[in-house]
Amino acid sequence: MDKVALFPGSFDPITVGHESIVYRSLSLFDKVIVAIGYNANKKAFFSIEKRMAMIRQVFANEPRVEVISYEGLTVDLCNRLEVRYILRGLRTSADFEFERAIAQVNKLMHPNIETIFMLTAPQHTPVNSTIIRDILLHNGNPSQFIPSAINIKDYL
Ligand code: ADP
Repeated sequence: MDKVALFPGSFDPITVGHESIVYRSLSLFDKVIVAIGYNANKKAFFSIEKRMAMIRQVFANEPRVEVISYEGLTVDLCNRLEVRYILRGLRTSADFEFERAIAQVNKLMHPNIETIFMLTAPQHTPVNSTIIRDILLHNGNPSQFIPSAINIKDYL
């Protein structure tokens, strides 16, 4: 049976940190589904369509990566898709504390689902989408933090 992981997040926009987690996880899983969480009450910088297009462009040559969007609880999506593994990246101890609570509550409610954590590559620890949005908002150039397959200006 294929081992499939769901990598959920906002990806607003995708960063080199996200890209690296996906590629590294492909040595553990047969397929990785990048799932963009959609929250109707939260205003995003990039539309869902643009975020999906960006991620598809990054993994255009990797048939084992699929990109979808979803609304609601990640565990419900996992059960719907019959996926048993949630993949999350960890940068700092703050990430760890935040993720620990979610993963442990998920474990109590859905014991069939495992959350797998991957520590960020050292050079990606400070990279996050919030800072990239801030750079873009002020007409800076964040290209070193964005996967090289994308020209972020094409999506503005
Ligand atoms: P969320 O809004 O759910 O935190 P993000 O899009 O910010 O979603 O991140 C999705 C996942 O990628 C999370 O597990 C997050 O910890 C991880 N991640 C974000 N940035 C990095 C990075 N620089 N290195 C490794 N993992 C990262």
